[in-house]
Amino acid sequence: MEQKQLEQLKKSLIEEKNRIEKDLGEIGQKNPKVEGNFDVRFPHYGQGKDENAQGVAEFEKNKALEANLEKRLNEINETLKKIEKDDYGVCQNCSSKIEGPRLKAMPTAALCVSCAKIQK
Ligand SMILES: [Zn+2]
Repeated sequence: MEQKQLEQLKKSLIEEKNRIEKDLGEIGQKNPKVEGNFDVRFPHYGQGKDENAQGVAEFEKNKALEANLEKRLNEINETLKKIEKDDYGVCQNCSSKIEGPRLKAMPTAALCVSCAKIQK
């Protein structure tokens, strides 16, 4: 990939990262000890039984959302690290080049097409 395209990709990944971190910040707080890890806050609705049930449901929902966002955030962080190390587009498993069309469709892909098939 050309340097210019990489810079563009890096920019859009950082933008997405900022968005995700903002979303995560709304449902939880950053774990200062682990990079890219967030702890979901338990919402406070009140002391009543109904309010508490609502809080539990919300908490479960946020936990699922947080897991998805965190997964994406980690993908982005990994990809950014690879760009920094000049390692972008190399399959994590077999070290061959990841196919261009695949990277275009999924810029954070860590595996080439054949390795991704095996992993599934
Ligand atoms: Zn591979």
